[in-house]
Amino acid sequence: MRALALTLETIAGHSSTENKVQAAAAYLASQHSDGIAIAARFLAGTPLPPGTPATKVGRSTLVDIIAAFGGAERRTLLKRATARGDLGTAVAELLEGLPRDSGAARLPILLVAESLARLGRVGRDRRARLLQELFGRATPIEAKYLTKLLLGSLRTGMQASRVEEALALAFDTPVDAIRRAHMLLGDIGATAERSARGDLETITLRAHRPVRVMLAHPAESAAQVCALLSDGAIAEDKYDGIRAQWHRDDKVVRVYSRALEDFTHFFPEIRSIPDAMHGEWILDGEVVVWVDGQAMSFGTLQRRLGRKQVPLTLLLDAPVIFIAFDVLRADGYDLIDAPLLQRKQALQQLPSEGPVRRAPWTELADEAAMNTFFDSAIAAGNEGAVFKDPKSTYQPGRRGRAWVKLKRPLGTLDVVVTGAEWGRGKRAGLLSDLIFAVRGSDQLVDAGRAYSGLTDAEITELTVHFKENTVRTTGSVRRVTPDIILEVAFDDVRPSDRHPAGFALRFPRIVRRRLDLSVDEISSVTDLVELYEQARAPTVEAG
Ligand code: AMP
Repeated sequence: MRALALTLETIAGHSSTENKVQAAAAYLASQHSDGIAIAARFLAGTPLPPGTPATKVGRSTLVDIIAAFGGAERRTLLKRATARGDLGTAVAELLEGLPRDSGAARLPILLVAESLARLGRVGRDRRARLLQELFGRATPIEAKYLTKLLLGSLRTGMQASRVEEALALAFDTPVDAIRRAHMLLGDIGATAERSARGDLETITLRAHRPVRVMLAHPAESAAQVCALLSDGAIAEDKYDGIRAQWHRDDKVVRVYSRALEDFTHFFPEIRSIPDAMHGEWILDGEVVVWVDGQAMSFGTLQRRLGRKQVPLTLLLDAPVIFIAFDVLRADGYDLIDAPLLQRKQALQQLPSEGPVRRAPWTELADEAAMNTFFDSAIAAGNEGAVFKDPKSTYQPGRRGRAWVKLKRPLGTLDVVVTGAEWGRGKRAGLLSDLIFAVRGSDQLVDAGRAYSGLTDAEITELTVHFKENTVRTTGSVRRVTPDIILEVAFDDVRPSDRHPAGFALRFPRIVRRRLDLSVDEISSVTDLVELYEQARAPTVEAG
């Protein structure tokens, strides 16, 4: 672990990406074949191989164990972590102060990997003992990076794509070949092993080796969807269920979560294989509870999760189906490089009924048709609609513009602008990043920021207004007279200390200016609390 910890320290110390990648490459090139997968995963900050249960070690458990071990008060360790801005550094400092036996046990990286993989599989006491053993063997710098790895906060600037570059450099391989291998294998560790062996050519997808799912880019309106997909789109309902990858080899069906974990046991109904399917298949889709020809709420589906075995009553009351909207491998052939339209044709082999079925879809050409589709998707009880580029290939793990989602907003608020910052890129020179507030008990309280939704003409006009009405400038923020009222839509609301109103809005966007309202008519903090409570209220259950 020592070499890894020193490498991570070096990488964190470099400011240039090139130097970081070079340091990582030198370390990877020095690894033996049995440690290279672990080395690559640890560098990328993902300590566990895919499919391994999470460690179940939180910050609080770690603080307890290390404080006890280092003979310090929990409070002292936490204080030091706050002062240093990082628990790992505080842990290293604590251990540095301890007398150490010069013959202290070493901490081989293989032992670390093995112990981390066991943490999520054992009970609480055993977990604590494993951690004590690891930290007991660790030198201060090893303990620092062990802590960071466990907390998922390596913060060296070395995400998986940089590790891919380091592998390319270490093994003199084109980075595109490495990226593709990583995409197909779904594991930077396995990719490193293959790169070291020079064995990247023959990789294909394989049933029961899940890959990361393709993601959708959020849009605010059908007009925006249309601008992104100007050559037309394949439109589908956006189901309010759980994303799943359905894998089938010759015999067995398994279903994997978005985190690539096997969660087949929650959904025994979808282990059946449609008659027409032969050979190996990998489908991408959504698990939804389906009663009387209709999808039920996400709340109903949630009752199925987190159980070792689904009780018969739930199987009867809340039966699930798997709706496939994409196919990555069909009858033993990889399809991820085929255009979506062709993948959709392969999906036609699936039935339109039954526990494993294809999702209905339609091709649309213009904004009006997209709007109509979206409205009927909402009317049918869906979360919204997803629009996809018919020519696009399947890009695992990417949130590109090839898939665009349009959701029904959770709600809207009428807010007033209290501050503005200069925009970037296309909006450079315009005060386009707006801070908005709602009414508190006796004053306005900032509730969030919005960047998008107004036209260029509106922003240009507002920039002039904000310049003339700046009351104070703090850093890059101009505080302005609160007289511009906006309607803001958002997808979700969560408690947060990021803004004084105590909530954070997810994906806030400006719907329009409200010229008809005055400041004392805008929404209040109480409205925010109500929206939050409504959103968290139990949803209507099936049956
Ligand atoms: P969100 O969770 O709001 O970011 O939306 C993305 C999620 O929508 C995906 O991860 C899927 O689980 C889900 N989804 C539902 N229907 C579709 C669809 N037709 N195409 C793609 N994703 C979908």
